[in-house]
Amino acid sequence: SRIPRIVILGAGYGGIVTAIRLQKELNYNEADVTLVNKHDYHYITTHLHMPAAGTDNPENARVNILKLIDEFKIDFVKSTVVQIRPQEKKVILEEGTLSYDYLVVGLGGEPETFGIPGLKEYALSIRSINSVRFIREHIEYQFARFKREPNRLDYLTFIVGGAGFTGIEFIGEITDRIPKLCKEYDVDPSLVKVYNVEAAPTALPGFDPELVEYAMNVLQNKGVTFKIATAIKECTPDGVILATGEEIKAATVVWTGGIRGNHMLDDAGFETMRGRIKVDENLRAPGHDNVYVLGDCSLVFSPEGRPYPPTAQISIQQADICAHNLVASIRGEQLKSFTYESKGTVASLGRGEAIGIVGSRKVKGGMAAIMKKVIDMRYLYIIGGIPLVLKKGRF
Ligand code: FAD
Ligand code: NAD
Repeated sequence: SRIPRIVILGAGYGGIVTAIRLQKELNYNEADVTLVNKHDYHYITTHLHMPAAGTDNPENARVNILKLIDEFKIDFVKSTVVQIRPQEKKVILEEGTLSYDYLVVGLGGEPETFGIPGLKEYALSIRSINSVRFIREHIEYQFARFKREPNRLDYLTFIVGGAGFTGIEFIGEITDRIPKLCKEYDVDPSLVKVYNVEAAPTALPGFDPELVEYAMNVLQNKGVTFKIATAIKECTPDGVILATGEEIKAATVVWTGGIRGNHMLDDAGFETMRGRIKVDENLRAPGHDNVYVLGDCSLVFSPEGRPYPPTAQISIQQADICAHNLVASIRGEQLKSFTYESKGTVASLGRGEAIGIVGSRKVKGGMAAIMKKVIDMRYLYIIGGIPLVLKKGRF
């Protein structure tokens, strides 16, 4: 009989870890595995707030995919997926078509704009190497522009929309970067304004209130103005309009207001909630026994019935189960069901500062910042072992 064909879409956390596990588990000629990704590199999404603000080089947040997989065991195709056709068991790429017996969807998320006018057109978002390069250059360019037009204070006004973890981590970095840019461009630091606008009644909604307060204090001391319980209603070429009617003029708006699943899942006719597929206990799309969905494209509920937040942590755990289940399906063995085991959350607030919950312990300050580095290095270790930790680890 024919060798079963597994196609993995996306080499993010979910996709690359699935590929790495499969190349280890599968025997010779047990399956053909193809990994498809838009770029020939994997990006370390959990580092992207640093290159976005310019506190680190984008080069440090990406890894060549061929360094992570064994080409003798996995075919890598650098291409953009344009359509999934589950009925035909086919995937349409920018160049060519792939047929599959088993599909793994790990295409990641997209910025959720909730239909807010102007966000798609005028706001920037932290989502890929290319997008963070643009944000970094854009920020620096505003300082150069201001020197030519010193009455344009909007060039020195930076708005971050959304105080979730992405927004908070980015704010932590940009406030580290601004003093350096002020020096470099001879700009009076008191002219620079950084706003973090959050619709919910608190920053980091749902997180431990004591740690939220600590984070806000650290960031306020670095010059951030929080506008909490204030929704962004519109983004314009000149800045943002808040639900209160107030307008803030700013040449830079970074939208960190949340993410949704990949639009291709809706287009393919899968049933989704905000673009994400609610997977069954084995991580498959309902009604499609041969389609596994991971990471930001998937939706998993806790035993209490609440959706888990989309994270690298859950994506990696899903990849382990997904790889196991693919091998089991091929061998006619028992599938495993997925249960998420949260190891906690640690978020950076810039150099030397962080907050987090590890196990049931609260951590903050310098100790938390060290833990954050260790967690980030653990991800590097999972995908690339010690060599990758040494090459891309940020100490
Ligand atoms: P992704 O990692 O997003 O990867 C998707 C892949 O698919 C990419 O390689 C992309 O190029 C590719 N792709 C997309 N579209 C196509 C297409 N059409 N064709 C081909 N390829 C395509 N989570 C944590 O657990 N801990 C953290 O500390 C943390 N920090 C974060 C910091 C920031 C700044 C951000 C933005 C997120 C952070 N997250 C963190 C969340 C975490 O990064 C995501 O949940 C995780 O990356 C999701 O993994 P994924 O496998 O679903 O997809
Ligand atoms: P998020 O959905 O967690 O946060 C978005 C925030 O934007 C929310 O607080 C929301 O209330 C706010 N918002 C929405 N609409 C708004 C509006 N109109 N005006 C103002 N504010 C508005 O998104 P995220 O921060 O990008 O995080 C995505 C996922 O990645 C989460 O699961 C998060 O846990 C994870 N993540 C984890 C880490 C970490 O562990 N260190 C870091 C970054 C991201």
